[in-house]
This record gives sequence, C-alpha cells and structure tokens, in this order.
Amino acid sequence: MGKRIGLLGGMSPTSSQLYYAELCRLTQARFGGLSSPDLILRSLDFAPVEQWMREGEWDSIRDLLIREAQMLERAGAEVIALATNTMHKVADNIQDHLSVSLVHIAEATAASLVAKGHRRPGLIATKFTMEQSFYTGRLSANALETLVPERGSRSLLNGIIFDELCKGIVTEESRATYIKVAADLAFDGADSLILGCTEVGLLLNESNTPLPVFDTTTIHCEAIIDAAFNESN
Ligand code: GLU
Repeated sequence: MGKRIGLLGGMSPTSSQLYYAELCRLTQARFGGLSSPDLILRSLDFAPVEQWMREGEWDSIRDLLIREAQMLERAGAEVIALATNTMHKVADNIQDHLSVSLVHIAEATAASLVAKGHRRPGLIATKFTMEQSFYTGRLSANALETLVPERGSRSLLNGIIFDELCKGIVTEESRATYIKVAADLAFDGADSLILGCTEVGLLLNESNTPLPVFDTTTIHCEAIIDAAFNESN
C-alpha cells in the first residue's frame, strides 16, 4: 500500500494532465494489473494565479498555495507535490505549513543530473524560473552550474509558455524557436538540458535537441511515485 498522493495543480491545467497521465503510467508499469495511483488532484483556476505572478503578488500566491496544500493534507494526502516548477518559488513556505513531505521538483531534477554525471545544464523555463534564484540556487547547491538563454530568448520562451503551452496549443513554429534556443545553449557549453517548465516536453525531447534532456515533469513524477511507494520515504 502506497501513500496517498496530493497533487496541487492547474498551473497550468495542461501540466496537470501530463502529470496525471505520467503518474498513472508509472504506477501501472511498477505494479501491473489494474494498479493506479491513490491520488487527489486539486486543480486551481490558473487565471488569477497567472495575473498575480505577472504583477509580482507572490505573497498572495504563497498564502493561496499554503491553504490549498493544507486542504490536501486534511483530505488525507500523505505526500504532496506542486505540479509546476515556477510555483516552487514558495515551496519552502508551503513545506513549513505541512506535516507531510512536499516532493521538491528542483531537488529531484538536481539529483537526476548529478547521478548521470552532468555539471553544466542549460535551463529552459518561464522567465521567473530562469531569472530568479529560487530554482537555480537549488541547482548550484548541488554543484550544478546553470546556463540560461539570453534575455531576448527568455522573453520569447516565456511568451510561448503562457500564450500557447499552458492553453494546450502546440505549433511547429514555437517548436522551431525552442529547438534553436536549445542549440544555442549547447553551443554555449551546456552539457545537458533541463526542461524546467512542466509543459515544455510538448515541444522538446531527446530526438530534437543536441543535448541529453531532463524533463522535469517525468523526473518529478518518478520522485512522487518513489515517495509514495518506498518505505524509506
Ligand atoms: N507549469 C509551468 C512551470 O513548470 C509554468 C506555469 C506556472 O507558472 O506555474 O513552471
């Protein structure tokens, strides 16, 4: 019997759909038969959250996510995960208000890179995740030196995330933009590529980038399943 998973999502709804599919796939692969994860999904309305992000209202986001995570715990969640990279800006605040563990996406990603011997990952993500220290700081704490795209590319990538990927829109033009930025990071010396936004796997993968790819959605889902099913956690 595993622990009940509480998934705090809707940021975006596209991301939560990818998580749900991947968590079901991993549970089935591990246990076979009709096994599926014991899971509660809290899917928030992304519109006000995105507006708060744009306006820098991080205290409001923090307070909302603490309340919602606590609700998941009261509903019986025994391990909790935030199905987005960007919202990990307030992950420590959330963890401080829970008695169960929050599975941190950047810690899981760092562990995966270090286990495979990488040291200099390129990071493709929202501008918040690429530009602020809450994420790259976690990577540096694990001896990883992160490379981010130049300013113009960061803003292009960010626009595509919110205008398209978060709405489930995938275009070949945007894929080409992402492929070009990944190639630039490889040229600048990156030895691996973090898809540090949970929707970016819709555009990039091992077959269209020159670098080993670390998709935070799949890495996070594996860490969540490990936390739910391993006795040691
Ligand atoms: N899901 C995205 C991420 O992984 C972006 C949307 C958000 O800001 O939560 O960062």
